[in-house]
Amino acid sequence: HSVPTLTLNDGHTIPQLGFGVFKVEPTETTRIVSDALEVGYRHIDTAAIYGNEEGVGAALASSAIDRSDLFVTTKLWNDRQGTQSAFDAFDESIDKLGLDYVDLYLIHWPAPANDKYIESWKALEQIRDSGRARSIGVSNFLVPHLSRLLAETDVVPAVNQIELHPAHQQPEVSAYARRHGIAIEAWGPLGQGKYPLFDETVVAVAAEAHGKTPAQVVIRWHLQTDNIVFPKSSNRARMAENFDVFDFELTPVEVRALSGLERVGRVSAHPDEVN
Ligand code: NAD
Repeated sequence: HSVPTLTLNDGHTIPQLGFGVFKVEPTETTRIVSDALEVGYRHIDTAAIYGNEEGVGAALASSAIDRSDLFVTTKLWNDRQGTQSAFDAFDESIDKLGLDYVDLYLIHWPAPANDKYIESWKALEQIRDSGRARSIGVSNFLVPHLSRLLAETDVVPAVNQIELHPAHQQPEVSAYARRHGIAIEAWGPLGQGKYPLFDETVVAVAAEAHGKTPAQVVIRWHLQTDNIVFPKSSNRARMAENFDVFDFELTPVEVRALSGLERVGRVSAHPDEVN
């Protein structure tokens, strides 16, 4: 049961299931990422603002895994948007990661009040041209941000990483992105504990039917609706649980039932308000 890959609009492939390290303490990161690699994860999602790129890099370096078998994403923080500042921030990130290149580099938030995401994207296009980021993309972009980007720049983002789970699916953003060949990465795929996803009857019923856990059912819903996901856990047993999702499939009826959970609305920050 190996992890499926998706092909991005630039021809590169990405493992559809990875491991996220938001809120993973810098001091614990190496242990946690090493556990994740041992469990079988090959795709790691970090960001400069998480403060743990060095720990991720140490875990990658001490593993015996070929670089070409790994997929590493990091992100440009809002206060580094611009041209030279983005180049500098990128250099700092790959230095901390100890890598020659990252697989994917993202603008973390549009931060529209600063009005620098177009300029930053042009810097990312140059970083991609240099080969030091194989793919480039955005995160937390809503339709107005994406449409402006597509109108004013040359490279269509490979991905848009947005908050997405059964209770908050952002259908307009994903439909727009997919129409333009932009893959959707779902952050907070398990609802970050802010949404009572695991208590929903349709989740519990599907879990019971397949002899799997509610978390596994929610991850399966993501995989079967073409999202890229990287659930986070510091607990090795849960890392393994979240990775053990390739021995069952939700029925179309179950997928539709989970999709029917869209009703809670946004509880996290609105992209227009994060600077
Ligand atoms: P998540 O939905 O993955 O939730 C993580 C929480 O769920 C954990 O703290 C844990 O308590 C719980 N959990 C994990 N596995 C479980 C299991 N099997 N059973 C029960 N509970 C379980 O939320 P997240 O970590 O915020 O999102 C995943 C990743 O997305 C992050 O680590 C990060 O890489 C990325 N992310 C990106 C942004 C962005 O702005 N681009 C924002 C947030 C997160």
